Amino acid sequence: MTDRRTQLADNLARVEERISAACAAAGRERDEVTLIVVTKTYPASDVRILAELGVRHVAENRDQDAAPKAAECSDLPLTWHFVGQLQTNKVRSVVNYAGLVHSVDRNRLVTALSAAAVKAGRAEQELGCLIQVALDAESGGRGERGGVAPDGVLELADVIAKAEGLRPAGLMTVAPLVGPYAGRPRAAFDRLMEIATDLRGAHPTANMVSAGMSADLEDAVAAGATHVRVGSAVLGVRPRLG
Ligand SMILES: *Cc1c(COP(=O)(O)O)cnc(C)c1O
Repeated sequence: MTDRRTQLADNLARVEERISAACAAAGRERDEVTLIVVTKTYPASDVRILAELGVRHVAENRDQDAAPKAAECSDLPLTWHFVGQLQTNKVRSVVNYAGLVHSVDRNRLVTALSAAAVKAGRAEQELGCLIQVALDAESGGRGERGGVAPDGVLELADVIAKAEGLRPAGLMTVAPLVGPYAGRPRAAFDRLMEIATDLRGAHPTANMVSAGMSADLEDAVAAGATHVRVGSAVLGVRPRLG
C-alpha cells in the first residue's frame, strides 16, 4: 500500500510537471487546465490514495465498475466523470454518482439521461453533459467508438439545453486513430477548439473542452483544452484494453 502510494505520488508529480510545462509553453495559466485521472480497471483503494494526494476529479468508462467504486469512495471530495460509451439502460445508475458525462452523442441518450436525472432529483444540481465529437465521422454520422460528427454538435447541444435536469457543459474528443486526423492529435484538437468556439456562441456556459490523454496531453493543452483525461501515466499501463 505504501509502495503504491509512492508510485502514484511519483507518477502524479510527473504528469503535473508535464501539464505545467505545456501550459507555460502555450502561455496559459496552470489553473486553466483541470486534470481528470482516469481510474478505470484500478481499485477503489487507488482512488482513495489519489484523493489523499490531492486529486479531485476522477473518470470511469464502465458503469459496472464505476458504480461500486464510487459508492466505496462516497466519503471523498471527488467529482466523478463518466467518459465511456453509454447504453441507455445504464443511465439510471450513472446519474447517481456522475457529476459530468463526457460521452453524450445522440438524442436518445439525452432523453434517457434527462428522465433519469429528474427521477434522481437532480432538477437543481443539473447533470453536466459534454458532447463527444467524432472527428473522423462522416457528416451526419457517428464515430465507431461513439461520438457525433462535427456537424451534429449544435443540434445536440440544443436538445441538451432543453432537457430537464441536464446542462450543456462542453465538448469531449479522443484523437482519431483513422481518417485524416490519424497521427495528428494537434490538428484534431485544433479542430475541436473551432467547434468549441461555435458551441460557446450558442451556449456560452458550455465552455469545457475535454481532450488529451497520457500520450497527447501536451497537444491538447497547446490547442486550448480545459480538461485532460489521464489514465496510464498516473496509474500504470492497464492489464487489459479499457
Ligand atoms: C482510458 C481513457 C482515457 C485515458 O487514457 P490513457 O491513455 O490511459 O491516459 C481518456 N479518455 C477516455 C475516454 C478513456 O477511455
